[in-house]
Amino acid sequence: MDNHFYQRTVLPNGVRVLTSAMPTARSASVSLYVGAGSRYESAGEAGLFRRDDEIAHHTVAQFDDPHLCLLADPKVRAEFKDPDAEAALCVDLLNEIIAGVDGITTAVHLCRRNKGRQGWIGEGGYEPIVPFLQRLRVSQYVLEFTIPVAGDFAVLRKLPDDRQIGLGCVDCRGAQVDSPEAIVGRVEQALRHVDRERVWLNPDCGFAPGSAADIPIDEAYAKLGNEAAAARILRERHPA
Ligand SMILES: [Zn+2]
Repeated sequence: MDNHFYQRTVLPNGVRVLTSAMPTARSASVSLYVGAGSRYESAGEAGLFRRDDEIAHHTVAQFDDPHLCLLADPKVRAEFKDPDAEAALCVDLLNEIIAGVDGITTAVHLCRRNKGRQGWIGEGGYEPIVPFLQRLRVSQYVLEFTIPVAGDFAVLRKLPDDRQIGLGCVDCRGAQVDSPEAIVGRVEQALRHVDRERVWLNPDCGFAPGSAADIPIDEAYAKLGNEAAAARILRERHPA
């Protein structure tokens, strides 16, 4: 291995172990690789191992589809001859990926492509893609609502009431750390339209440290800490 970030160790049973220190991360990540995947699969099966590997041993499998969400933006819609057909294709593809997946929560994350301090790409409420979201067979919609251009919480009424809502209620872009009270305020606006049992708290999008969106990791932890504090306040104020 010529990458000096990794150290290679071979165990007595032949298993090769690669280790790499992540000084800025307060977590550990473990991956297990076996001789399987697209190069071992026929054309008709390609990708199936990847799918099953991703969802094995997890309780939630979340798929990101900002492309579908961008089709809520009139400017993006104008770039397509038939934007609804494009949205339908997104839905059909995701439904095919999750077909036959049982026993775990399947979620789709929809955002307008966030770029950290540089802001976001798309603008506009979810209404144009609601008919397509209704057809998506996921158990949870993860939707950003902190960003003003994502529109009003009232759209939640139009989503099937047997689905969970991963409610984006924490900003992931600016340096300002939302207070627990500010987060509680956003969630309580949403609770005017959807039952508390269906609501899960989320940041609007990922914090993406280290990529083009360079957010300090301590800032991300502070924001997530306040999200957890808001959840505690909400559980007290809105008991089951
Ligand atoms: Zn996102």
